[in-house]
Amino acid sequence: MLAAPPSPAKPAATGSRPDPAALLIWYDRHRRALPWRALPGETPDPYRVWLSEIMLQQTTVRAVKPYFERFLTLFPTVADLAAAPAEDVMKAWAGLGYYSRARNLHACAQAVVERFGGRFPDSEEELRSLPGVGAYTAAAIAAIAFDRRAVVVDGNVERVVARLYTVEQPLPKAKPLIRDLADGLTPEQRPGDFAQAMMDLGATICTPKSPACGLCPFREPCAARTEGTQETYPRKEKKSSGALRFGAAFVAVREDGMVLLRTRPAKGLLGGMAEPPGTEWSAGFDPAAALPLAPFAAEWRRLTRVVEHTFTHFPLRLTVYRATVPASAPPPEGCWWAPVATLDGEALPTVMRKAMMVGLEG
Ligand code: SF4
Repeated sequence: MLAAPPSPAKPAATGSRPDPAALLIWYDRHRRALPWRALPGETPDPYRVWLSEIMLQQTTVRAVKPYFERFLTLFPTVADLAAAPAEDVMKAWAGLGYYSRARNLHACAQAVVERFGGRFPDSEEELRSLPGVGAYTAAAIAAIAFDRRAVVVDGNVERVVARLYTVEQPLPKAKPLIRDLADGLTPEQRPGDFAQAMMDLGATICTPKSPACGLCPFREPCAARTEGTQETYPRKEKKSSGALRFGAAFVAVREDGMVLLRTRPAKGLLGGMAEPPGTEWSAGFDPAAALPLAPFAAEWRRLTRVVEHTFTHFPLRLTVYRATVPASAPPPEGCWWAPVATLDGEALPTVMRKAMMVGLEG
């Protein structure tokens, strides 16, 4: 006899169903105060909601806060952001990572101004037509900024739902199922608050380790809590990390305190960002053979400290070469000399800041 296939998700263990109203009562008491969030009774500002959602993709709330505030100071409205030079946007973003987001952010602001007269559209469909706005972000903006009923599932919500229903399928395969279950939970009333309440619950109570189930408004119907298996959800497929890549960066320092920079190609990883000249990065690259690829002939010194950095798809080990050159040295084509004292203002991504630090100290 054939065994029945395992059920991908069990119904709530106690027979009671998670009640969105209970979550909203909890939210009214315990909501997080976040700089982009409207206070109770205030109308949310779609620009702030959108900006925060783009910044929060793959980045923590804590890391985003100072960037969010800086962006609002530099670009108080979507029209200001649209009109800003691309370099200013990239500079303001530098250090936040995933730089394609910054390019899309700028393109999106311009699209909102050109196609929608400077007002964000309020439907998921129109929001999705904007650069850098995928299904999740469109749902989040529609719900949070416009109180539209939309199913908003971020990593926090995935965890809450997977535990509520003990979803056995591993992520990412379980995403459609989790979305369906979240859809079934989402109320018609206050969908924007509900979306934020689910995120807050995941961030503050239903945490990856040691969830505070005793404080959770869903503790009765939660299947994982009943079984005592909370921390085993969501199930995850084993990650495969990319092969280690190697490369070299050349930090040229002029005697008058200038350092050589160039701009990376607009497309691709870290596109449009600044960097010291360097080589390609590959698994087979031999850093000892990097010298012929230096930007000019000089007394390049290979430094013993290397830069380790992990991108989403691969780890990188960067060897740093340094040379000191006369103040009269001209920049090679495509490069420029930047004062060391103002490097903070350059659009250097984190990996290149590390390389620069090693080179300048070396
Ligand atoms: S009862 Fe515990 S595991 Fe279940 S949703 Fe609440 S915090 Fe998460």
